[in-house]
Amino acid sequence: MVEVDFLKHTYTCPFCGREQVYWSSHSSEDVGYYSTWSNDNVPTVARDAEFKFYCFKCNNNACEKVTVIGKGRFTDTVISIVPQYVHKHYPSYIPQQIRNDYEEANMILDKSPKAAATLLRRCLQGMLHDFWNIHEKNLNAEITTLKNKVPTSQWNAIDGLRKIGNIGAHMEQDVDRIVEVDANEAQKLNRLIELLIEKWYIARHDEELLYAEICDISDEKQDQRKRGTE
Ligand SMILES: [Zn+2]
Repeated sequence: MVEVDFLKHTYTCPFCGREQVYWSSHSSEDVGYYSTWSNDNVPTVARDAEFKFYCFKCNNNACEKVTVIGKGRFTDTVISIVPQYVHKHYPSYIPQQIRNDYEEANMILDKSPKAAATLLRRCLQGMLHDFWNIHEKNLNAEITTLKNKVPTSQWNAIDGLRKIGNIGAHMEQDVDRIVEVDANEAQKLNRLIELLIEKWYIARHDEELLYAEICDISDEKQDQRKRGTE
């Protein structure tokens, strides 16, 4: 879902992830009216449209993509029209396969939560292989190996993801055991994958970057000191 704050007039561009103010000449609101028509094509009752439409153009020069959403005038319903699905855009140091599974899961999250849960499970397995270098005979064994490497609450949630994702992966083998995964549950699993990508990959990357910067500064200072004593 496109993130919009209608009070502050801000939105997050779903294409590039930049937050920005939409109250600009690039953006517009269309309230819309429609009428019911009599048999001889004369409008009888005019009333407000059910939805108000917002059209935003991204102010980021490298993006400039247009987003269109509809907001219910009498409810808080927000629908994404362009793009139809929204996902985070992760940097290229996160393996392509993991990003692909994550993005594909987001494309079908509302329409097929069970299939999305299966993809998110595959995404988790990809991270266990790549990030933790855990390779066991199946995901079950891999999650067990992870147990003492991450905080308990994080591990419990990951174990939950495995159980829900199994439903989609093995449903053809044991039809009686199908448990429905609704869009809400799939959304929670998706949030968990996003959190793990942040806590594992992005945190490690940022940490290493900071360490490298500090080492560079320290080397530079030592060079200066040496030059000062020569
Ligand atoms: Zn953008």
